[in-house]
Amino acid sequence: MNLAVYACDPVLSRGRRVAQAPAPTRTEYQRDRDRIVHCSAFRRLVYKTQVFLNHEGDLFRTRLTHSLEVAQLGRSVARSLRLNEDLVEAIALAHDLGHTPFGHAGQDALDECMAQHGGFEHNLQSLRVVDQLEQRYPQFDGLNLSFETREGILKHCARASAERFEREEPGGVGRRFLERWQPSLEAQLCNLADEIAYNAHDIDDGVRSGLVTLDQLQEVPLFNEFRLQVLSEYPQLQDAMQGRRLLYESIRRMLSAQVYDLIAATQRAIDADPPDSLDAVRRRGPLVQFGEAMRAQSRTLKIFLLGNLYRHPTVMRTTGLAKQVVRELFAAYLSCPREMPGSYMKRSAYPGAISERAIERTVADYIAGMTDRFAAREHERLTGARLLP
Ligand code: MG
Repeated sequence: MNLAVYACDPVLSRGRRVAQAPAPTRTEYQRDRDRIVHCSAFRRLVYKTQVFLNHEGDLFRTRLTHSLEVAQLGRSVARSLRLNEDLVEAIALAHDLGHTPFGHAGQDALDECMAQHGGFEHNLQSLRVVDQLEQRYPQFDGLNLSFETREGILKHCARASAERFEREEPGGVGRRFLERWQPSLEAQLCNLADEIAYNAHDIDDGVRSGLVTLDQLQEVPLFNEFRLQVLSEYPQLQDAMQGRRLLYESIRRMLSAQVYDLIAATQRAIDADPPDSLDAVRRRGPLVQFGEAMRAQSRTLKIFLLGNLYRHPTVMRTTGLAKQVVRELFAAYLSCPREMPGSYMKRSAYPGAISERAIERTVADYIAGMTDRFAAREHERLTGARLLP
């Protein structure tokens, strides 16, 4: 691969927390990606909600298919910009590993339960999964990933958490939040690939669910521009029976436009003053970016999805039930920790916990790792009430 000078080069990686001999046939980032694909948290993503609860339909995105789409978009942009595709893929596949069951509802409920115990944040939890919670190697906890992959996973981090990371791992993944440095371009890219992916697939899933209609989408300029373009080229798609083709073709063009815009705007920003190394990238402002017009259009789309899909009364109703499941599970395990598997009781300490051995953190880890359906079943087993199918 012909990498740019400002791309992450696996040969120059800052390495793993526990030193390991290089693999004979794979680069360090390929090895990270392989470890992620083989870990159990990754497999559980298939039964975790993105927006729609897992039981609501087989065709909606799950965390797994979302992560695959982010990886696809990210790699394709990385290739154009001569960034490291393997690293982008590793970060993209791992970026949602810390998500709770039931999407943001689960995360919000767990964060409330943990309010007095260091809180809960899915992004920190993703790092915690790969650093500590996966237990599959004899020599270390977690997956012992490269610094650059871990840096990319830790997308945001409050100051207090960054200070804790810095105490545990001086000069490590917490440092950039204290110094206000940027992460690698590969990490910056994953954030935007995430956004492009969910904006597009949430339109698709929204229409599929019947909660959002093609007519409503006409108020979103970014979508409507391509809908009109498609209709003028293929007038036969006016037919209501052809609605799916019209939707897919409009989304496809919208996705491509965002990807090309991202590549062009980022390349412009790089060319204006090319960084001569990864270190130079870290000390700049964010370089991976949309052009101004696309940024505004993307924001309008997000606002539309928030108002019309994420806060749709039907979504909110299941959201309320999902929160109740999480709250009641938390209370049940807290009052009777032996209901959790024995291995959970021996988990290592969490740097974010007020008390290093806080039982609350163990309970949060256990619940966060659950799939939607396992959480619903456990809730029924412990409370006798069936809140979700
Ligand atoms: Mg995501």
